[in-house]
Amino acid sequence: MLFFSLVNYRDHCIFTHPKTLLDFSHLSASNVLDICQPKLENLDVTNIDIINAFPIPELAEKYPFVKKGGHYSPKDCKSYQKVAIVVPYRDRLHHLKILLNRLHPMLFKQQIEYRIFIIEQAGNDRFNRGKLMNVGFTEALKYENFDCFVFHDADLLPENDKNLYLCDNNVRQLSSAIDEMRYHVMYYNYAGGVVATKKETFVRINGFANSYWGWGNEDDDFSARLQSSGILLTRPPEYIGRFKMVRHKKETRSEHGFVYLC
Ligand code: UDP
Ligand code: MN
Repeated sequence: MLFFSLVNYRDHCIFTHPKTLLDFSHLSASNVLDICQPKLENLDVTNIDIINAFPIPELAEKYPFVKKGGHYSPKDCKSYQKVAIVVPYRDRLHHLKILLNRLHPMLFKQQIEYRIFIIEQAGNDRFNRGKLMNVGFTEALKYENFDCFVFHDADLLPENDKNLYLCDNNVRQLSSAIDEMRYHVMYYNYAGGVVATKKETFVRINGFANSYWGWGNEDDDFSARLQSSGILLTRPPEYIGRFKMVRHKKETRSEHGFVYLC
């Protein structure tokens, strides 16, 4: 006789190394030849400038490889995925300048074809991060058939160049270790900050919810969508998924936010 119930439990959040994002085993040998293969051993922790916020025209001079519209494509090889970086935004210009000064040189080193989209909320309604992500997804696809979307808070700066901004077949939280959280995952299901998802995966989970106005809950809702579709949340190991958060005042939690989640 059994004195306990056996529950078939499966982890739905797992750590995977960025090298798994460069698995080209499904491609033919001749196709692999053209594909950019960044050498992870040459990429590492970079000192991040969180003090100097360069004006955008100065940034354009500093990084001449970036084309108009925040776009870059490697010259000598073909990027494995075309990546859209989507930043929800309102009234955080200082953060934005610091972020751009970090992302452009890092993505250049990672040899990734990308375009950065800043999705600005107009008007004085409460901020709606989820809806801005969905707008970014839809608008980006009008430019290019992107394979991979990185949804990126404006105040988070990746510290380790090894943290490849590419997508796997699950949803990947690139910001697994934020300094404000003493460089640990905030909580098991946490899917906020910086997350990367393939176009098809985002469609399958029907994107973010549009219904959360004000701070909080849209990230937990997103996490619940993954789980109910059997999609894992993958993360780089914490020593690679390190991010600095630029300080800002804390917003107040949205009213009735939990109602939709329950
Ligand atoms: N955000 C913004 N303006 C705002 C509120 C939020 O641009 O007034 C964007 C910005 O990209 C920010 C993200 O939404 O990084 C998440 O908001 P916040 O940083 O306030 O959330 P927290 O870090 O407190 O979870
Ligand atoms: Mn923040």
